[in-house]
Amino acid sequence: MAKVIAIDGPSGSGKSSVSRIVGGRLGFLHVDSGALYRIVTWRCLEEKVDTSDPAAVAAFAAGVGIELRPENGRVEYYVGGEKPGERIRTPEINAHASAVATVKEVRDRITAILRSMAAFGDLVVEGRDITTAVFPDSPARFYLTASPEARAERRRREQVEKGISDQSAEAVKASLLARDRVDSTRRHAPLRKADGAVEIDSSDMTLDEVVDAVMNALPPGWRK
Ligand code: C5P
Repeated sequence: MAKVIAIDGPSGSGKSSVSRIVGGRLGFLHVDSGALYRIVTWRCLEEKVDTSDPAAVAAFAAGVGIELRPENGRVEYYVGGEKPGERIRTPEINAHASAVATVKEVRDRITAILRSMAAFGDLVVEGRDITTAVFPDSPARFYLTASPEARAERRRREQVEKGISDQSAEAVKASLLARDRVDSTRRHAPLRKADGAVEIDSSDMTLDEVVDAVMNALPPGWRK
């Protein structure tokens, strides 16, 4: 059976960087579950589907085709034969993704897609409900956190480096906290620390230190 490392946490807690590095070290495929919610959101916005209307989102999302391809150490997503790339990382998508992610039918479909990836091999999967709902039985479950200030600053720097936006630190923080609020109060699979998950507060830790903390907490035999 495939081994799955499950990593949850709010935006900017360092999940992506940590998952990528841990996956690279162990030869586990990196899976970014947030990108799937972003793809559905992106397609809704392109087709002018009202993201505040759960029934409309559910009906539309059922027809969004997403092809999975394990490539270069990660599971890549293709829509209509193309990778969405940075088009799914805009402030507009940040502002709508959490609403789309409240829709049960969307969650059920994405959960099924994520579980199907175990057929590709060992995985490190990051998101908001991986430890609680998607792979709750994994023996390697982590909850990453950091202060809102640290998280907002990381996100802002990332957006500037990628040339996506030059939102102010305050605007980035407000958007991130709004998303956290919706993600942790929604009815279906809200973001929360799972019982038994290892919690790591990365506010004052370097990336290397967080990676080491994860590696050291893996079940015996998983480390190389
Ligand atoms: O991780 P990322 O910021 O790309 O996720 C975008 C949004 O997708 C989150 O704010 C959340 O609403 C949703 N999401 C989710 N469950 C996951 C991953 C992401 O609800 N497992």
